[in-house]
Amino acid sequence: MIAGSVSQFVRQMIPAIEALQRLREGNARFVADVRSHATDASRAHRGDLADGQEPFAIILGCSDSRVPAEIVFDQGLGDLFVIRVAGNIVAPSQIGSVEFAAGKFRTRLVVVLGHSRCGAVEATLDALQQPSAPRPRHLYSIVDRVRPSVEALLATDLRHDPDALIRDAVRANVRVSASQLRHGSDLLESLIAREGLIVVGAEYSLESGVVEFFDGVPA
Ligand SMILES: [Zn+2]
Repeated sequence: MIAGSVSQFVRQMIPAIEALQRLREGNARFVADVRSHATDASRAHRGDLADGQEPFAIILGCSDSRVPAEIVFDQGLGDLFVIRVAGNIVAPSQIGSVEFAAGKFRTRLVVVLGHSRCGAVEATLDALQQPSAPRPRHLYSIVDRVRPSVEALLATDLRHDPDALIRDAVRANVRVSASQLRHGSDLLESLIAREGLIVVGAEYSLESGVVEFFDGVPA
């Protein structure tokens, strides 16, 4: 696909399955170090986009500097509606952002994108294991939202294996965020039931660059 062909605003709504395939292909290019022409941030493309946007996927990802959604999926201006917050947590403003994009742009794929060795998940495990250590007060606005997804893991044998613990905790946190988006909004529930919206969970590997979609992916 060339840059010009992605900037036509007459393009049809892109079904979730097709959007997912685009992300898979883009991530494969990223992993292979091949850049697509479609990611051109040219002046002409910018001008076209000034009139409107039709992002084909909504990404709720972590703020971690190593996981910029547009880069790891090899996408360009106007392709992705991205919400980033430490720990890819779901608070009311994140739900509102997803509702806005899904409602206004008819975007039909939502991806919760966690990543290996997430610092927000590590900070939460740390807070649970060493509750009396001093921490900045507002950190708890993140930690308290990650806590319910990872607390139960500390009651298992995983607590003796820090690497396995963080791996499972990252995925548990993604699953909970995806579930909160599926069930925390009347609008999103209705779009899922009637308009083909899907919410999937994925994990980006800092080591390999690969994004694995592991939760809510249609067969
Ligand atoms: Zn993170």
